[in-house]
Amino acid sequence: MTRETNERQDLRTLFFPDHLIRTTIRVFLVVLVSVSALVAPVSAQPAEEPAYRPLIEALEQAVLAGDSAAFLSLTSANANRNAAAAFASEHLYANVERTTINPRFLSPIDDLPGGTGYDLTVEVFSESGIRGRLETWQLEIVRQEQGDDIIWRIRDQARVDSIDNLRHLNLNSTKQYAANNMVLVSEDLSLTLTEGTVFVSETELGVTGLVLLGEGVMNFTPQPEAEQGQVRIFSGKEALTAKFETAFVRMHPDLFNLQFSTMGLVEQTVESDKLRDATEIFDAFIGLSFALDLSHVTDRLWSLVPGVGDFLAEVPTSRNGTLTYVLSGHQPEDISLYERETRRIISLYPSARKREVQGRYFGDSDNTRVDVLDYDITASFIPLGVSQQSIMAVPRLQGCRIVGSARLALRVKGLPITSFSLRLAEELEVSSVTSDEFGPLLFFRLTGQNNLTVNLPGEVPDSTEFTITVSYEGELPAQQLEENWIAKNFRVWDNERAYSLGQRRYIYSNRSYWYPQGLFSDYATATLELTVPPGWAAVASGNPLDTNPLITRSMEDGPRQFSFVALQPARYLSVLITRFSDHRSPAHQVRLANAAPRPAVTQAEGAVFYDTLTIDAQATERSIEEIGPITTKTADIAAFYSSLLGDIPYPTLTMTLSDSFLPGGHSPAYFVAMNREIPRPLGVLTSWQTDPVSFSTYPSFFLAHEIAHQWWGQAVGWKNYHEQWLSEGLAQYFAALYAERDDGPEVFSDILHQMRRWAMQHSDEGPIYLGYRLGHLDGEPRIFRALVYNKAAMVLHMLRGLIGDDAFFAGLKRFYHQWRFRKAGTDALQSAFEIEAGRSLSRFFDRWIHDDGLPELKFSSRVEDAASGEEIVLRFEQLTERIFELPVTVNLTYRSGPGETVVVPVTERVTEVRVPLRGPVRRVDVDRDELALAEIDH
Ligand SMILES: [Zn+2]
Repeated sequence: MTRETNERQDLRTLFFPDHLIRTTIRVFLVVLVSVSALVAPVSAQPAEEPAYRPLIEALEQAVLAGDSAAFLSLTSANANRNAAAAFASEHLYANVERTTINPRFLSPIDDLPGGTGYDLTVEVFSESGIRGRLETWQLEIVRQEQGDDIIWRIRDQARVDSIDNLRHLNLNSTKQYAANNMVLVSEDLSLTLTEGTVFVSETELGVTGLVLLGEGVMNFTPQPEAEQGQVRIFSGKEALTAKFETAFVRMHPDLFNLQFSTMGLVEQTVESDKLRDATEIFDAFIGLSFALDLSHVTDRLWSLVPGVGDFLAEVPTSRNGTLTYVLSGHQPEDISLYERETRRIISLYPSARKREVQGRYFGDSDNTRVDVLDYDITASFIPLGVSQQSIMAVPRLQGCRIVGSARLALRVKGLPITSFSLRLAEELEVSSVTSDEFGPLLFFRLTGQNNLTVNLPGEVPDSTEFTITVSYEGELPAQQLEENWIAKNFRVWDNERAYSLGQRRYIYSNRSYWYPQGLFSDYATATLELTVPPGWAAVASGNPLDTNPLITRSMEDGPRQFSFVALQPARYLSVLITRFSDHRSPAHQVRLANAAPRPAVTQAEGAVFYDTLTIDAQATERSIEEIGPITTKTADIAAFYSSLLGDIPYPTLTMTLSDSFLPGGHSPAYFVAMNREIPRPLGVLTSWQTDPVSFSTYPSFFLAHEIAHQWWGQAVGWKNYHEQWLSEGLAQYFAALYAERDDGPEVFSDILHQMRRWAMQHSDEGPIYLGYRLGHLDGEPRIFRALVYNKAAMVLHMLRGLIGDDAFFAGLKRFYHQWRFRKAGTDALQSAFEIEAGRSLSRFFDRWIHDDGLPELKFSSRVEDAASGEEIVLRFEQLTERIFELPVTVNLTYRSGPGETVVVPVTERVTEVRVPLRGPVRRVDVDRDELALAEIDH
């Protein structure tokens, strides 16, 4: 599997773990209370396996025959025969055509002498016609002597779980319908078959699949405005209309029956050529969604029946390839439209019902079923290609072999669970999952997915805390730095080794799933014990322990072990592995100047406050001369931020400098990885200077931005992709504030002007709230950075102008302390500022975060007589339909004496401000500082 660019990685992670089929499966797995072991057979079998195979074969025969007597004949002498008979009558069925029983897990029974009894978990897959049933049975098997032979018999039995809505679907070859203006509808979608033919695929409940042939038109008209904007970027119009000649649809039979009466379908004689065409379409699409990979127990394709709230349409179009519409009832954003071939998301939003019920703000982990409280990870990393002598040879994969064991402390949240899912890179093979409380656990992985589903032996109630230990191993590619400050992601730059320049460096962080973790990043404490080969060193999330070896010592015997403890919760755990050079700069200490008083707000469990930050810096050979200045700078920046917010979230910060062609950075909790730009080979184009976030007047900007993430992004998280601006906008604005403090107001205003220019240029691409989807349809990450970084920072700056410095900085502090070690949303930020400003800011945030576009203002001024002398009336009129709120500066120049600057809070359709004049006015300048995010006509 190739690792793609940052933005694409995001998509994969959130929506396309690999393919819609798998996304859909995942959705369904969440719905089904539990699913038994589906794919990878558990390899943690005891060395000497008891000879129970004949028992399994006999059991298979009994299940196939639906023969209770045969089942009873397999029970042991001391078995409870009534219980066995009851089990057989309930779980053996008539008319089974094929059965496969697959042993999954074996563990000795405690109360029996060793080798004489086992708990055996088996998967039972039975097929009857088009119906399939997958069950997990727990059997107690015991050894019995029968004459000279040793045989195995069942002492007890239970069914753990079952999926019985599997169907092997076919197109019905005996039914063909003529369609005349047939209309199929789902929310915001209609498929009209003006004239054509329809074939169906049925279960015993009715039609679940349709193939449409003929003259058709697809119409997609998303209700939310932001989505209309995305459709316009994609198709040129706010509603997407596409002609089709074939289409494939899946739905629940009830939904079909509901629409059927209005469809005007007339049954007609089956025409073989049309049936052939329809079958081709059916075969092409049936396996792409709602399908389970059961290849280890069956060679037929098995599908799930869509739920009542689900609808899927695959529409091949001539212009855009296949467009896939999905209504998937169990996702917070349940409507999506995308291009199947490129996987580009066109639309993704909550349905009308969801919009009403869940509101505008939801968290990505609202529906996860377990909370990870703590990680204890022991892992070794061996860079690939290192064991071979030629260090210069480019390894086939830029990554490491990882052998790990992770102990997770978990807590059930919400309803009782019988299974739960974790995320772990698919490259890492899991050998066992065990629990202190529950013993060895069944698990399964879906091919092509970074998921691991673990079954529990029974129902585990809400709030139960338990631990699991996952053992895993594999070769895993390292990820790119989270933030590459470049215009485009050019693949050639990914592979720094291709030019044999610089020191090799591996980062495993939020996008590599190098350890088993919650489905979405969330706060947890951690202990890491990481082993690397001689000469290499690891920097990771957490306080480095005093017992760690010297990070820079180049060669010593044997592997080196680095340990880290993260007592302050981190959103995700990261590791950087490289060879650092020796240097003499001592660690810096930053003391928190104004720690008290801290706002009295709810705190994340277990988190404490620190008054001191210890800064350590490390660099590879090329950057070693910068280590002194960079340590000093880092300390200065961190001291500034901690004074703004009155807090040091993580007590240590390791700044690492490593080599790359382009500037970039990543700032997980406790450390910062910075790329130091190294000279590029001739012929490689650079375009990063034209990037929205490249501020040539202030070279330390990247560093200041990355360090700000320790507070924004790490200490205060964001609760789903829409809210990324909270992290990037605040980090960007803090970096600008530092630049101002460090280098003066001119640099600050230069930076703001550049941010404003990019924000103005791209505001029509969509609201900040679309997060990473901005620029996604155009394949242009600069649009994302122009809006989620720069426009967001300008929005903060305008807010400051509107409510004043006191309320602004108090609001930031309030927001920070209230959401420290939690994931926040725009609503939380808004409410913190509203409390400090003493007024509603909903219009401000609605317009600037949730809407696209910019205000258009008409400015005029007039001088009027007033009781106390002359006044100037400054008048702003908003010309756009929607009213924005923003501050605009007006400069008054008098004929004599100093001028005057007035900040006008423009908040209404017409805003008039009266300013008493000190004398005759020579000039009135509006927005001379060029900081209003608006078109102003004057
Ligand atoms: Zn950032």
